[in-house]
Amino acid sequence: MLELDVSPRLLTASFTQGNEGVKANRLDNHIRYNLTTDRNKTMRTRFFAFALLLSLLIASTAHAAGTQLTWYGHAAFKITTPSGKVLMLDPWITNPANKNGAADLAGITKADLILITHGHFDHVGDSVAIANLTGAKLVATGDLADALVAYGGYPKAQAGMDTQGNVGGELSLLGGEVKVLFVPAIHSSAVSPPAGSLNTDPHSGGNPGGFVISIAGGPTIYATGDTDEFSDMSLIGKAHKIDVMLCCIGDHYTMGPVRAADAVKLVGPRYVVPIHYGTFPILTGTPAEFGEALKKNGSKAQMTVMRVDQTLNL
Ligand SMILES: [Zn+2]
Repeated sequence: MLELDVSPRLLTASFTQGNEGVKANRLDNHIRYNLTTDRNKTMRTRFFAFALLLSLLIASTAHAAGTQLTWYGHAAFKITTPSGKVLMLDPWITNPANKNGAADLAGITKADLILITHGHFDHVGDSVAIANLTGAKLVATGDLADALVAYGGYPKAQAGMDTQGNVGGELSLLGGEVKVLFVPAIHSSAVSPPAGSLNTDPHSGGNPGGFVISIAGGPTIYATGDTDEFSDMSLIGKAHKIDVMLCCIGDHYTMGPVRAADAVKLVGPRYVVPIHYGTFPILTGTPAEFGEALKKNGSKAQMTVMRVDQTLNL
């Protein structure tokens, strides 16, 4: 198991936060002292030292502007791009696995896009509340977008054709910083009406899916959505070098740990984050079983088990 957040970024961050001022001051004093003894030699030496310090600071700043991935439990993520754009993915922030759900939801005051893999309540989640507050546009199939607008309360003006797609289509969004490829998932996609609605019939949300999210200057992330494994997953890994796969493992409504490990082998990501487990008692798959299955099937992907509310720097 690899903890992605034990990264050079954290080391550079502590360097810049903890010692930057102290080091700069010491350097200053030292330069002043040496100027009176051997001016030229010391100036040269100190200039290079200062240039090195500066380049380290610049490097750490550049790294700080990477991509952040926050997990809220279940299948809910926030992705912050290097330019600060915010993508919410299946944002059921107030799910039972997230003790800070209400506070987390209140803290989401900026979002540019909301990506929803399918119409089930545990993936639509808090989308409408976030959309109303932030003006975020909906990235979903046209069928799901239509159903969420007609029956789910999603603001129509934020669910236009520019951010709708369907399987095989790759959308270039946010000025080209983010590309979203719609890929299949084997599942279902009924949209439940909002609580209190007179019409309690579920509505068709079209076909379920997953997303391959390619971020300029950042990682390529494959979110499986809810699915079983299928052999065409190997095509996803062929077309895109996947850095991080967000992979359902919970069983019961999706593939469980062993089939999920097969899926990882088909896709071939560098890292895999298990999701969609433990939220309800019936989602029995565990990261431990998943890790065992990955070892057994010889997958080279490194499993990263995220904590709820944890942010990884990618
Ligand atoms: Zn589902």
